[in-house]
Amino acid sequence: GHLPPNPTVDTLVEEAWQRYRDVGDGKVADYIPALAKASADWFGICVAGVDGVTHAVGDTDRAFSIQSISKPFVFALVCQALGGGRARASVGVNATGLPFNSVMAIELNAERTMNPMVNAGAIATTSLAPGANAEERWRFIREGLSRFAGRELRMDEEVYASEAATNQRNQGIARLLVGYGRMYSDPDEATDIYTRQCALNVTARDLAVMGATLADGGVNPITGERVVDAERCKRILAVMATAGLYEQSGDWLYEVGLPGKSGVAGGLVTIAPGKGGLGVFSPPLDAAGNSVRGQLVTRFLSERLGLNLFASQ
Ligand code: GLN
Repeated sequence: GHLPPNPTVDTLVEEAWQRYRDVGDGKVADYIPALAKASADWFGICVAGVDGVTHAVGDTDRAFSIQSISKPFVFALVCQALGGGRARASVGVNATGLPFNSVMAIELNAERTMNPMVNAGAIATTSLAPGANAEERWRFIREGLSRFAGRELRMDEEVYASEAATNQRNQGIARLLVGYGRMYSDPDEATDIYTRQCALNVTARDLAVMGATLADGGVNPITGERVVDAERCKRILAVMATAGLYEQSGDWLYEVGLPGKSGVAGGLVTIAPGKGGLGVFSPPLDAAGNSVRGQLVTRFLSERLGLNLFASQ
């Protein structure tokens, strides 16, 4: 299947933006001090088809840090480099049902890291990135994420410095994983590279293209470049479906019926396999750290564009 005809998608993306522009719920993240500077009003929606056609409304060219949305794409790159079997065995793919920075999730399960969508599993995934040193491993991640976006992504220095100065909890998680044999490079180095990957700037349009690349079996629909194999994509999408919105992943899948991933800067990416990607940017978050407007828009568009994977027609 494909997305509906282009004028229909344009109309629905515009309708979604109008429908939710005045929603005032949620709170801009401030546990990373630099993120608190975001405006609650910023709001952009972009749909990218696997044919490379994009449909954008609102603040779709405004840069914000990718944060946790980096997680599935880094996992995809690591699976591609190491083989999916080894990446899975090293990190795990089961949902935690707990917040993204949960330490209890590590303690409660023998698998420890749990999955690449929560901080423990994401830092473990980053520690698996190939390279002879930190510089090479960081380049592997930055260049790989840039290939997903189809343009060179740059780090937001202020967001990086702000998180690096306040991420003692992530540093603690990485060291805890060393004790459980679930950290595959130096823990401080892995946490630093993870913090850098989270500070890469993207736009809602970039997220839509990155999502469309996963939707298209790993081929970027704008550049035509193969970023990862189709065999990887379906596995990444499975883990996004079960764990992409943390403890609310069940509610999300129930309502939207698609794999998605949120980030605390207010980004949300969703993939309609074989059809396209959806990127939403709106900083106010709910209690789990998921964009409020992002979820509303995605639920609306999944329904109206007929994207739910579990629908019989
Ligand atoms: N860099 C953030 C952190 O590790 C990412 C969290 C998120 O987007 N949910 O806390």
